[in-house]
Amino acid sequence: MGTGFFWDERTFWHAGGDYAFTLPLGGLVQPQAAGGLPESPETKRRLRNLIEVTGLAAELDMRTADPAKTEDLLRVHPQSYLTKFKEMSDAGGGELGYHAPFGQGGYEIAQLSAGLSIAAVNAVSSGTLDNAYALSRPPGHHCLPDLPNGFCLLANIAIAVEAAQAKGLARRVVILDWDVHHGNGSEAIYYDRDDVLTISLHQDGNYPLDTGGLSDRGRGAGVGFNLNLPLPAGSGHAAYLHAMERVVLPQIEAFDPDIIIVACGYDAACSDPLSSMLATAETFAAMTRAIKEIAAKTCEGKFVLVHEGGYSEVYVPFCGHAVLEVMADAVASAPDPMKKGFDNRQPNARIVSFQKEYINEMAESIGV
Ligand code: ZN
Repeated sequence: MGTGFFWDERTFWHAGGDYAFTLPLGGLVQPQAAGGLPESPETKRRLRNLIEVTGLAAELDMRTADPAKTEDLLRVHPQSYLTKFKEMSDAGGGELGYHAPFGQGGYEIAQLSAGLSIAAVNAVSSGTLDNAYALSRPPGHHCLPDLPNGFCLLANIAIAVEAAQAKGLARRVVILDWDVHHGNGSEAIYYDRDDVLTISLHQDGNYPLDTGGLSDRGRGAGVGFNLNLPLPAGSGHAAYLHAMERVVLPQIEAFDPDIIIVACGYDAACSDPLSSMLATAETFAAMTRAIKEIAAKTCEGKFVLVHEGGYSEVYVPFCGHAVLEVMADAVASAPDPMKKGFDNRQPNARIVSFQKEYINEMAESIGV
Protein backbone atom coordinates (compact mmCIF):
# COMPACT_ATOMS: atom_id res chain seq x y z
CA MET A 1 0.00 0.00 0.00
CA GLY A 2 1.11 3.62 0.18
CA THR A 3 1.42 6.18 -2.61
CA GLY A 4 2.59 5.11 -6.04
CA PHE A 5 4.59 7.34 -8.37
CA PHE A 6 4.53 6.11 -11.95
CA TRP A 7 7.15 7.61 -14.24
CA ASP A 8 9.59 6.64 -16.99
CA GLU A 9 12.61 8.52 -18.35
CA ARG A 10 11.58 7.57 -21.90
CA THR A 11 8.53 9.84 -21.67
CA PHE A 12 10.92 12.77 -21.18
CA TRP A 13 12.36 12.00 -24.62
CA HIS A 14 9.13 12.93 -26.40
CA ALA A 15 9.94 15.89 -28.65
CA GLY A 16 7.76 18.40 -30.41
CA GLY A 17 8.22 20.26 -33.67
CA ASP A 18 9.50 23.64 -34.77
CA TYR A 19 7.82 26.11 -32.49
CA ALA A 20 8.73 29.25 -30.58
CA PHE A 21 6.46 29.10 -27.52
CA THR A 22 3.01 28.24 -28.99
CA LEU A 23 3.77 29.77 -32.41
CA PRO A 24 4.92 27.69 -35.39
CA LEU A 25 8.19 29.08 -36.77
CA GLY A 26 7.99 31.16 -39.91
CA GLY A 27 7.10 34.67 -40.93
CA LEU A 28 8.06 37.07 -38.17
CA VAL A 29 8.47 34.37 -35.49
CA GLN A 30 12.18 34.07 -34.69
CA PRO A 31 13.40 30.69 -33.38
CA GLN A 32 14.32 30.77 -29.68
CA ALA A 33 17.74 29.83 -28.33
CA ALA A 34 16.15 27.23 -26.04
CA GLY A 35 13.16 26.86 -28.30
CA GLY A 36 10.27 24.51 -28.75
CA LEU A 37 6.83 24.12 -27.31
CA PRO A 38 6.25 25.15 -23.69
CA GLU A 39 5.34 21.48 -23.14
CA SER A 40 8.99 20.64 -22.44
CA PRO A 41 10.35 17.62 -20.57
CA GLU A 42 12.02 19.83 -17.98
CA THR A 43 8.92 20.62 -15.92
CA LYS A 44 8.42 16.88 -15.38
CA ARG A 45 12.06 15.82 -15.08
CA ARG A 46 12.69 18.53 -12.51
CA LEU A 47 9.73 17.28 -10.43
CA ARG A 48 11.18 13.78 -10.61
CA ASN A 49 14.60 15.16 -9.60
CA LEU A 50 13.23 17.29 -6.76
CA ILE A 51 11.50 14.37 -5.06
CA GLU A 52 14.79 12.46 -5.25
CA VAL A 53 16.78 15.32 -3.73
CA THR A 54 14.39 15.93 -0.80
CA GLY A 55 14.03 12.24 0.01
CA LEU A 56 10.33 12.16 -0.88
CA ALA A 57 11.00 9.49 -3.54
CA ALA A 58 12.03 7.11 -0.73
CA GLU A 59 8.57 7.57 0.81
CA LEU A 60 6.79 6.73 -2.45
CA ASP A 61 6.39 3.47 -4.34
CA MET A 62 8.38 4.39 -7.47
CA ARG A 63 7.34 2.37 -10.50
CA THR A 64 7.29 2.34 -14.26
CA ALA A 65 4.66 0.53 -16.33
CA ASP A 66 4.09 -1.39 -19.53
CA PRO A 67 3.01 0.63 -22.57
CA ALA A 68 -0.73 0.68 -23.16
CA LYS A 69 -1.74 -2.22 -25.39
CA THR A 70 -3.57 -1.64 -28.68
CA GLU A 71 -6.72 -3.16 -27.17
CA ASP A 72 -6.55 -0.53 -24.40
CA LEU A 73 -6.18 2.30 -26.91
CA LEU A 74 -9.03 0.97 -29.07
CA ARG A 75 -11.55 1.44 -26.25
CA VAL A 76 -11.14 5.20 -26.80
CA HIS A 77 -9.45 5.81 -30.17
CA PRO A 78 -10.52 4.46 -33.59
CA GLN A 79 -8.12 2.11 -35.42
CA SER A 80 -7.85 4.60 -38.29
CA TYR A 81 -6.43 7.23 -35.95
CA LEU A 82 -3.95 4.83 -34.35
CA THR A 83 -2.78 3.61 -37.77
CA LYS A 84 -2.18 7.15 -39.01
CA PHE A 85 -0.35 8.12 -35.80
CA LYS A 86 1.86 5.00 -35.90
CA GLU A 87 2.72 5.44 -39.58
CA MET A 88 3.71 9.08 -39.08
CA SER A 89 5.70 8.17 -35.97
CA ASP A 90 7.65 5.48 -37.86
CA ALA A 91 8.31 7.94 -40.68
CA GLY A 92 9.91 10.53 -38.38
CA GLY A 93 6.97 12.25 -36.74
CA GLY A 94 5.17 15.46 -37.64
CA GLU A 95 2.04 17.38 -36.75
CA LEU A 96 -0.95 15.10 -36.26
CA GLY A 97 -3.57 17.62 -35.24
CA TYR A 98 -3.51 21.09 -33.77
CA HIS A 99 -0.49 21.89 -31.59
CA ALA A 100 0.21 18.18 -31.25
CA PRO A 101 3.63 17.57 -32.83
CA PHE A 102 5.86 14.59 -32.13
CA GLY A 103 9.11 13.06 -33.32
CA GLN A 104 10.26 9.62 -34.42
CA GLY A 105 8.89 7.00 -32.02
CA GLY A 106 6.32 9.41 -30.60
CA TYR A 107 3.67 6.72 -30.87
CA GLU A 108 5.53 4.36 -28.55
CA ILE A 109 6.21 7.15 -26.06
CA ALA A 110 2.52 8.11 -26.05
CA GLN A 111 1.66 4.42 -25.46
CA LEU A 112 3.99 4.45 -22.47
CA SER A 113 2.47 7.68 -21.16
CA ALA A 114 -1.00 6.12 -21.32
CA GLY A 115 0.45 2.94 -19.77
CA LEU A 116 1.60 4.91 -16.70
CA SER A 117 -1.97 6.18 -16.23
CA ILE A 118 -3.45 2.71 -16.70
CA ALA A 119 -1.06 1.19 -14.14
CA ALA A 120 -1.74 3.94 -11.58
CA VAL A 121 -5.52 3.62 -11.87
CA ASN A 122 -5.28 -0.17 -11.94
CA ALA A 123 -3.16 -0.34 -8.77
CA VAL A 124 -5.42 2.01 -6.80
CA SER A 125 -8.75 0.63 -7.99
CA SER A 126 -7.62 -2.92 -7.24
CA GLY A 127 -6.47 -1.88 -3.76
CA THR A 128 -2.72 -2.55 -4.12
CA LEU A 129 -1.89 1.14 -3.55
CA ASP A 130 -3.74 3.72 -1.42
CA ASN A 131 -3.41 6.43 -4.07
CA ALA A 132 -1.09 7.18 -6.98
CA TYR A 133 0.47 9.83 -9.19
CA ALA A 134 1.11 9.20 -12.90
CA LEU A 135 3.77 11.47 -14.38
CA SER A 136 2.35 10.91 -17.85
CA ARG A 137 3.94 12.72 -20.81
CA PRO A 138 2.74 13.62 -23.39
CA PRO A 139 -0.37 14.81 -21.55
CA GLY A 140 -3.86 13.67 -22.53
CA HIS A 141 -6.83 15.76 -21.37
CA HIS A 142 -7.30 17.69 -24.64
CA CYS A 143 -7.21 14.63 -26.89
CA LEU A 144 -10.48 13.55 -28.51
CA PRO A 145 -10.85 10.04 -29.95
CA ASP A 146 -9.67 11.15 -33.40
CA LEU A 147 -8.45 14.70 -32.81
CA PRO A 148 -5.19 15.29 -30.97
CA ASN A 149 -4.69 18.88 -29.87
CA GLY A 150 -3.04 21.03 -27.22
CA PHE A 151 0.13 18.85 -26.90
CA CYS A 152 -2.08 15.77 -26.25
CA LEU A 153 -1.77 12.68 -28.47
CA LEU A 154 -3.68 9.97 -26.60
CA ALA A 155 -6.45 10.42 -24.00
CA ASN A 156 -4.44 8.98 -21.09
CA ILE A 157 -7.12 9.26 -18.40
CA ALA A 158 -10.00 7.97 -20.52
CA ILE A 159 -7.84 5.04 -21.64
CA ALA A 160 -7.13 4.24 -17.97
CA VAL A 161 -10.79 4.61 -16.97
CA GLU A 162 -11.94 2.31 -19.76
CA ALA A 163 -9.29 -0.28 -18.85
CA ALA A 164 -10.39 -0.25 -15.18
CA GLN A 165 -14.05 -0.56 -16.15
CA ALA A 166 -13.28 -3.40 -18.58
CA LYS A 167 -11.53 -5.29 -15.76
CA GLY A 168 -14.47 -4.64 -13.43
CA LEU A 169 -12.27 -2.66 -11.04
CA ALA A 170 -14.40 0.50 -11.11
CA ARG A 171 -17.79 1.43 -12.45
CA ARG A 172 -18.53 4.98 -11.39
CA VAL A 173 -15.66 7.40 -11.95
CA VAL A 174 -15.13 11.10 -11.32
CA ILE A 175 -12.64 12.94 -13.55
CA LEU A 176 -11.83 16.29 -11.98
CA ASP A 177 -9.72 18.51 -14.24
CA TRP A 178 -7.98 21.41 -12.50
CA ASP A 179 -5.57 22.10 -15.34
CA VAL A 180 -6.05 25.77 -16.25
CA HIS A 181 -7.24 24.75 -19.71
CA HIS A 182 -10.60 23.14 -20.37
CA GLY A 183 -10.60 19.33 -20.31
CA ASN A 184 -12.23 19.19 -23.74
CA GLY A 185 -11.05 15.67 -24.54
CA SER A 186 -12.45 14.06 -21.38
CA GLU A 187 -15.66 16.06 -21.82
CA ALA A 188 -16.14 14.92 -25.42
CA ILE A 189 -15.44 11.26 -24.63
CA TYR A 190 -17.92 11.12 -21.73
CA TYR A 191 -20.48 13.70 -22.85
CA ASP A 192 -23.23 11.10 -23.39
CA ARG A 193 -22.51 8.97 -20.34
CA ASP A 194 -23.80 8.96 -16.77
CA ASP A 195 -21.20 6.58 -15.30
CA VAL A 196 -18.32 9.07 -15.54
CA LEU A 197 -18.77 12.53 -14.02
CA THR A 198 -16.46 15.05 -15.70
CA ILE A 199 -15.76 18.35 -13.92
CA SER A 200 -13.43 21.02 -15.30
CA LEU A 201 -12.17 24.11 -13.46
CA HIS A 202 -10.46 26.29 -16.03
CA GLN A 203 -9.68 29.86 -16.97
CA ASP A 204 -12.55 31.34 -18.98
CA GLY A 205 -11.49 32.16 -22.52
CA ASN A 206 -8.20 30.26 -22.44
CA TYR A 207 -7.48 27.18 -24.61
CA PRO A 208 -9.56 25.83 -26.37
CA LEU A 209 -11.38 29.01 -27.26
CA ASP A 210 -14.65 27.37 -28.25
CA THR A 211 -15.25 24.83 -25.46
CA GLY A 212 -15.70 24.79 -21.68
CA GLY A 213 -18.95 26.74 -21.40
CA LEU A 214 -20.95 26.76 -18.18
CA SER A 215 -24.07 25.55 -20.00
CA ASP A 216 -22.38 22.47 -21.48
CA ARG A 217 -23.87 19.91 -19.10
CA GLY A 218 -23.88 16.70 -21.17
CA ARG A 219 -26.16 15.05 -23.70
CA GLY A 220 -28.74 12.25 -23.55
CA ALA A 221 -28.00 9.96 -20.62
CA GLY A 222 -25.04 12.22 -19.84
CA VAL A 223 -27.08 15.32 -19.05
CA GLY A 224 -25.97 16.59 -15.63
CA PHE A 225 -22.77 14.55 -15.69
CA ASN A 226 -20.51 17.18 -17.24
CA LEU A 227 -19.75 20.33 -15.33
CA ASN A 228 -17.65 23.28 -16.47
CA LEU A 229 -16.68 26.11 -14.17
CA PRO A 230 -15.00 28.79 -16.31
CA LEU A 231 -13.19 30.91 -13.71
CA PRO A 232 -12.30 34.54 -14.46
CA ALA A 233 -8.68 35.54 -15.07
CA GLY A 234 -7.03 36.53 -11.79
CA SER A 235 -8.57 33.73 -9.72
CA GLY A 236 -6.15 32.69 -6.98
CA HIS A 237 -5.93 30.53 -3.88
CA ALA A 238 -9.22 31.63 -2.31
CA ALA A 239 -11.28 31.36 -5.51
CA TYR A 240 -9.98 27.87 -6.28
CA LEU A 241 -10.72 26.62 -2.77
CA HIS A 242 -14.16 28.19 -2.86
CA ALA A 243 -14.89 26.47 -6.20
CA MET A 244 -13.87 23.18 -4.62
CA GLU A 245 -16.03 23.66 -1.52
CA ARG A 246 -19.07 25.21 -3.19
CA VAL A 247 -19.24 23.09 -6.35
CA VAL A 248 -16.74 20.27 -6.78
CA LEU A 249 -16.89 18.44 -3.44
CA PRO A 250 -20.72 18.35 -3.15
CA GLN A 251 -20.95 17.10 -6.74
CA ILE A 252 -18.44 14.32 -6.06
CA GLU A 253 -20.21 13.31 -2.86
CA ALA A 254 -23.61 13.19 -4.56
CA PHE A 255 -22.21 11.13 -7.44
CA ASP A 256 -20.68 8.59 -5.02
CA PRO A 257 -17.79 7.35 -7.22
CA ASP A 258 -15.70 4.18 -7.00
CA ILE A 259 -12.57 6.21 -7.72
CA ILE A 260 -11.60 9.87 -8.31
CA ILE A 261 -9.10 10.78 -11.01
CA VAL A 262 -7.63 14.27 -11.21
CA ALA A 263 -6.30 15.73 -14.45
CA CYS A 264 -3.58 17.55 -12.53
CA GLY A 265 -2.15 20.52 -14.37
CA TYR A 266 -0.12 23.18 -12.59
CA ASP A 267 -0.70 25.88 -15.20
CA ALA A 268 -3.12 27.82 -12.98
CA ALA A 269 -0.04 28.80 -10.97
CA CYS A 270 1.04 32.42 -10.60
CA SER A 271 4.13 32.08 -12.74
CA ASP A 272 2.67 30.09 -15.63
CA PRO A 273 3.27 31.55 -19.10
CA LEU A 274 0.06 30.05 -20.57
CA SER A 275 -2.50 31.49 -18.15
CA SER A 276 -3.49 34.48 -16.03
CA MET A 277 -4.33 32.79 -12.76
CA LEU A 278 -2.81 33.09 -9.29
CA ALA A 279 -2.75 29.62 -7.71
CA THR A 280 0.25 28.64 -5.58
CA ALA A 281 1.85 25.37 -4.49
CA GLU A 282 -0.32 25.59 -1.36
CA THR A 283 -3.43 25.87 -3.55
CA PHE A 284 -2.62 22.58 -5.25
CA ALA A 285 -1.78 20.97 -1.89
CA ALA A 286 -5.06 22.20 -0.38
CA MET A 287 -7.10 20.93 -3.35
CA THR A 288 -5.34 17.55 -3.05
CA ARG A 289 -6.16 17.49 0.68
CA ALA A 290 -9.82 18.12 -0.17
CA ILE A 291 -9.82 15.30 -2.73
CA LYS A 292 -8.11 12.97 -0.28
CA GLU A 293 -10.80 13.69 2.30
CA ILE A 294 -13.76 13.30 -0.07
CA ALA A 295 -12.20 10.10 -1.45
CA ALA A 296 -11.95 8.73 2.10
CA LYS A 297 -15.62 9.55 2.57
CA THR A 298 -16.94 8.21 -0.75
CA CYS A 299 -14.58 5.60 -2.23
CA GLU A 300 -12.27 4.08 0.38
CA GLY A 301 -9.71 6.81 -0.25
CA LYS A 302 -9.12 5.79 -3.86
CA PHE A 303 -7.79 8.64 -5.98
CA VAL A 304 -5.21 9.08 -8.71
CA LEU A 305 -3.56 12.21 -10.03
CA VAL A 306 -2.47 12.22 -13.68
CA HIS A 307 -0.02 14.94 -14.69
CA GLU A 308 -1.26 17.29 -17.42
CA GLY A 309 -0.02 20.87 -18.08
CA GLY A 310 2.18 23.30 -16.17
CA TYR A 311 4.84 25.29 -17.96
CA SER A 312 6.97 27.03 -15.39
CA GLU A 313 10.06 24.85 -15.29
CA VAL A 314 11.14 26.24 -11.94
CA TYR A 315 7.79 26.33 -10.13
CA VAL A 316 5.97 23.18 -11.31
CA PRO A 317 8.29 20.86 -9.31
CA PHE A 318 7.42 22.69 -6.08
CA CYS A 319 3.69 22.41 -6.83
CA GLY A 320 4.05 18.71 -7.59
CA HIS A 321 6.11 18.14 -4.46
CA ALA A 322 3.47 19.86 -2.30
CA VAL A 323 0.76 17.64 -3.82
CA LEU A 324 2.75 14.44 -3.29
CA GLU A 325 3.50 15.40 0.34
CA VAL A 326 -0.25 15.47 0.98
CA MET A 327 -0.91 12.24 -0.92
CA ALA A 328 1.74 10.31 1.02
CA ASP A 329 1.54 12.08 4.43
CA ALA A 330 5.23 12.58 3.78
CA VAL A 331 8.00 13.60 6.14
CA ALA A 332 10.10 15.11 3.35
CA SER A 333 9.24 18.65 2.38
CA ALA A 334 10.17 21.24 -0.22
CA PRO A 335 9.06 24.66 1.08
CA ASP A 336 7.71 26.89 -1.70
CA PRO A 337 10.57 29.31 -2.51
CA MET A 338 8.14 31.71 -4.25
CA LYS A 339 5.61 31.75 -1.41
CA LYS A 340 6.15 35.30 -0.18
CA GLY A 341 5.94 36.90 -3.59
CA PHE A 342 3.02 34.80 -4.79
CA ASP A 343 1.02 35.27 -1.57
CA ASN A 344 1.53 38.97 -2.06
CA ARG A 345 0.02 38.82 -5.53
CA GLN A 346 -3.31 37.35 -4.34
CA PRO A 347 -6.41 39.49 -4.99
CA ASN A 348 -7.50 41.66 -2.07
CA ALA A 349 -10.48 40.82 0.17
CA ARG A 350 -13.03 42.76 -1.88
CA ILE A 351 -12.04 41.11 -5.13
CA VAL A 352 -11.99 37.67 -3.48
CA SER A 353 -15.49 38.34 -2.17
CA PHE A 354 -16.65 39.21 -5.69
CA GLN A 355 -14.97 36.10 -7.12
CA LYS A 356 -16.76 33.88 -4.58
CA GLU A 357 -20.07 35.54 -5.39
CA TYR A 358 -19.41 35.04 -9.10
CA ILE A 359 -18.75 31.32 -8.52
CA ASN A 360 -21.94 31.04 -6.46
CA GLU A 361 -23.93 32.72 -9.26
CA MET A 362 -22.50 30.39 -11.88
CA ALA A 363 -23.38 27.37 -9.74
CA GLU A 364 -26.90 28.61 -9.04
CA SER A 365 -27.51 29.36 -12.72
CA ILE A 366 -26.96 25.69 -13.61
CA GLY A 367 -28.74 24.37 -10.53
CA VAL A 368 -25.81 22.97 -8.60
ZN1 ZN B 1 -3.19 23.21 -19.45
